[in-house]
Amino acid sequence: MYSLLFEPVRIGPVVARNRFYQVPHCNGMGHAMPEAHAAMREMKAEGGWAVVSTEECEIHPSGDVSPYVEARLWDDRDIPALALMCDKVHAHGALAAVELVHNGPTSSNLYSREVALAPSHQPLKYGYPHQARAMTLHDIREYRRWHREAALRAKRAGFDIVYVYAAHDLSLAMHFLQSRRNQRMDDYGGSLENRVRLLRELLEDTKDAVGDRCAVALRFATEEFQGSAGVTQKEAQEIVHLLADLPDLWDVNIAAWYMDSQTSRFAREGYQESFTSWVKQITSKPVVGVGRFTSPDTMVSQIRRGVLDMIGAARPSIADPFLPKKIQEGRADDIRECIGCNICISGDMTITPIRCTQNPTMGEEWRKGWHPERIAARRSDQRILIVGGGPAGLEAARALGQRGYEIHLAEAKRDLGGRVTLEAKLPGLAEWARVRDWRVSQLNRMSNVSIYHENSLTAEDVLGFDAQRVVLATGSCWRRDGYGRSNGAAIPGLDAATVFTPDDLMRGAMPEGPVLLFDDDYFYIGSVLAEVLRAAQREVIYVTPDDTIASWSTYTHEFRHIQRRLRELDVRLVTSHNLALVDREGATLACVYTGREQRIACASVLTITARLPDDALYQSLLSRQSQWADAGIEGVTAIGDCLAPGLIAHAVYAGHRYAQEFDGPAIEDVPFRRRLPLSS
Ligand code: ADP
Ligand code: SF4
Repeated sequence: MYSLLFEPVRIGPVVARNRFYQVPHCNGMGHAMPEAHAAMREMKAEGGWAVVSTEECEIHPSGDVSPYVEARLWDDRDIPALALMCDKVHAHGALAAVELVHNGPTSSNLYSREVALAPSHQPLKYGYPHQARAMTLHDIREYRRWHREAALRAKRAGFDIVYVYAAHDLSLAMHFLQSRRNQRMDDYGGSLENRVRLLRELLEDTKDAVGDRCAVALRFATEEFQGSAGVTQKEAQEIVHLLADLPDLWDVNIAAWYMDSQTSRFAREGYQESFTSWVKQITSKPVVGVGRFTSPDTMVSQIRRGVLDMIGAARPSIADPFLPKKIQEGRADDIRECIGCNICISGDMTITPIRCTQNPTMGEEWRKGWHPERIAARRSDQRILIVGGGPAGLEAARALGQRGYEIHLAEAKRDLGGRVTLEAKLPGLAEWARVRDWRVSQLNRMSNVSIYHENSLTAEDVLGFDAQRVVLATGSCWRRDGYGRSNGAAIPGLDAATVFTPDDLMRGAMPEGPVLLFDDDYFYIGSVLAEVLRAAQREVIYVTPDDTIASWSTYTHEFRHIQRRLRELDVRLVTSHNLALVDREGATLACVYTGREQRIACASVLTITARLPDDALYQSLLSRQSQWADAGIEGVTAIGDCLAPGLIAHAVYAGHRYAQEFDGPAIEDVPFRRRLPLSS
């Protein structure tokens, strides 16, 4: 049925074994953690991807994107780190691709201290207080030389596909295309043909340098959503006509990155199709594109309808490195589908190793030796009781069940999933239910796992259960008193006011309007609940002590989408204000800088400040530790939100970690391998 997806595809001088293409994606490890990076890429090759790419790979110190950690080929000394990746990818029969980049005015040069380069004089994009200078013709020749030499190094490292990168507003090759960045009057500016000149030269240089053995791919943004200041689809079509068969492969997407990697809250699977489907009609070369593809039917449809030749994926390959193999083996139901939350991107954005909500082994392949599909078999006959069927409990049960232990999972409610089941009902978050559904479907096939629904356990129940190990994954609840980052004590008046928490709204309660939504959490839930309130026609005054709404969502690339949506919904936004007092008529807000107060009329308050673990059962069991031995209990462990509330990703990770470490060797103080610059 899906054999179409497993046809080989010729890309210039190389052949991809099937149509699954892991497009370049960042990971927060890059040049700083080469072994970890190589092991993470190896997993994709082992899982059946035909092409496995690096993230963007800097070619010269004048295009340094520090503090972000990407790949580097500045000189020959950078070759071994990437050769390591190539070897690991080749060992599993996949092709290795490298995305060469010079970031020009989108670099920082904080590390190199070089003067940044751009088509014309301009400020650096990301707020650094220095400018990029206009490139001379000599600079352009130098840039071409750096790119060519980096391509030769890439070939020596073992890469099969070398990219010229003109996407995401992140590379000089694209910056020369944009009228807002390129105001040159010479042969490289003005007319479209002139603005495309450098891109054409780079493609020709790269082919000339490495084209005998390596394919030359072009990553190209077909729409920038900037009108005539940027690449428009109309101009992109002309560019594709101009370059049609010059690259060996077109890798197409939309810009900038926050538009390319949209979350499921803001875009559906296949959301790029209307922006990229025309490329294949212009070129005879293979086209790869993305769209958070996780469904094999959608993938087949993309190929059949002539939209794409290869199924590109970053996030679906992160959530499930074995996605191609599972389809090939007729196990599509086993695919751990990406939920589109972009926690993976927060790794790169916070300059820390990549993590994934769905795949807790992501980023841990080398440093913890975790594998997304395999886990050590059980080492004893212990019976394990897990209390709570949210993401932490479900993942602990699944991974311990995979190890072969006898597992008993008790859940107070009828439905499994805990917070995921509640949050997935909120606007835009339906795909988050995949966290629950994948785990439940795996658990349902395990004869060694028993699940008890509508079983709210007490300490008595646990002591009488005859389990050797007890895992408490009972979750958390939102506080009602206002305590949080900005308030070290309860907010005066909340105790007497009509106060709601996110838990209340998720369980169906609807406050009277106007509602003062007080967000001291700074991530997604505030804006999602504002949408809930607006859908019920409630007037919303969104108050936060932070300087922006949903500031942490910059790391998941949702920030701009959230700002736009709240404004479109006519939510009144009040930033940099704390909630000082609530009374009968409304609330008093205080400016966090001056203390100046203002009054807001509201009928109810929604507090989104902090959570408390639901750990009464855990505390009760701890206080009865003297009775454990008689009950046969050897250990009681709290995991996930019950230990310390966090993201769903933290809860899944906690459940997985418990399962990985259970019955194993003692864990050292530093519980993972590290690459040290001066190791003996
Ligand atoms: P986490 O994110 O850590 O997995 P959740 O809040 O999503 O936490 O899930 C916790 C789950 O535990 C909820 O489904 C809740 O109903 C369940 N639960 C809480 N207390 C008990 C209990 N005493 N017995 C059984 N299940 C419980
Ligand atoms: Fe998908 Fe979220 Fe995992 Fe990223 S972190 S791959 S968006 S599930």
